[in-house]
Amino acid sequence: VCVTKVALVTGANKGIGYAIVRNLALNYAKRSSDIPLTIFMTARDPNLGQESLKKIKHELKSEQILKDDGGNVDLKFLRLDLTDEQSIKDVKGVLADDGFDILINNAAIAFGRDEFDVNVVRFTLATNFYGTLNICNHLYPLIRPNGRIINVSSSAGLLNILSSSKLRKEFSRDDLDMNGLIGLMKKFENDVEKNKWKEEGWPTKAYGVSKIGLTAMTKVFARRADSEGKNILVHACCPGWVATDMGGPNAPRNLDQGAKTPVYLALDEDVVPKTKNGEFWRDEKVVPW
Ligand code: NDP
Repeated sequence: VCVTKVALVTGANKGIGYAIVRNLALNYAKRSSDIPLTIFMTARDPNLGQESLKKIKHELKSEQILKDDGGNVDLKFLRLDLTDEQSIKDVKGVLADDGFDILINNAAIAFGRDEFDVNVVRFTLATNFYGTLNICNHLYPLIRPNGRIINVSSSAGLLNILSSSKLRKEFSRDDLDMNGLIGLMKKFENDVEKNKWKEEGWPTKAYGVSKIGLTAMTKVFARRADSEGKNILVHACCPGWVATDMGGPNAPRNLDQGAKTPVYLALDEDVVPKTKNGEFWRDEKVVPW
């Protein structure tokens, strides 16, 4: 019997991830469920993570929703670096006994607009694509029935940034599996290394292609969950352009606005009848990828 609901958010020490944790707590408390919620705030730097945990607890104190203040939401910190497999295994060890319910893959990196070479591509894919994939591979088996995986992707990773219709078709195939998807990501890396990425139909964008991979990965996991009858929702979303270290100071959305769709997808009951599994969302709606 599940006595506590458990959620985990990556890259939660700042930016949208931080706001996702805060809004998950506030939103869940509003639902006045009898089942307590534990949220694991994770970050790659334990000092930054612990500091953010303290900060968020302080911010939420007046709400009286946290366990320490008599509420039913508990916040805990775990170290998790997408590129450090041991840290993923350590987290898995913590969750292994009882399993968990909500995985929000938020952490990502982006190099500057003008930075592009094979190393930028490798580094970006290692975090945003392979790192997130590694977390999903390790934690997917621990997700309990009715659970959810929410991947924070981006409108910078819409299919139309690919000039090749063949590539667009490959990424959106209904029968694309994980090996096929990894093959496409490897092809990007190889085409950049061989200096022929443009003629092969790729954009000069490491981050954008990493997010195409993440949205495609979302669909692969959704199909897997459906075919295994696992009753797990897997969706990708774009938070919009948000003022964070990554988004820059000119972005029109604040952190809470950026957290809105990921939190909606993580908690709301409406998500289920509204659509099939494995969609790309923005502003709480399914949008074309
Ligand atoms: P930030 O740069 O503000 O925060 C990114 C977070 O990810 C930080 O906590 C960072 O940790 C963490 N992170 C980076 N690399 C790793 C790693 N290897 N392991 C664990 N954590 C890591 O970005 P945002 O808050 O803006 O972005 C959050 C998500 O939203 C990302 O997926 C981004 O692509 C997406 N997004 C953002 C948009 C925007 O306008 N801001 C628009 C569209 C999508 P650390 O502090 O240690 O660096």
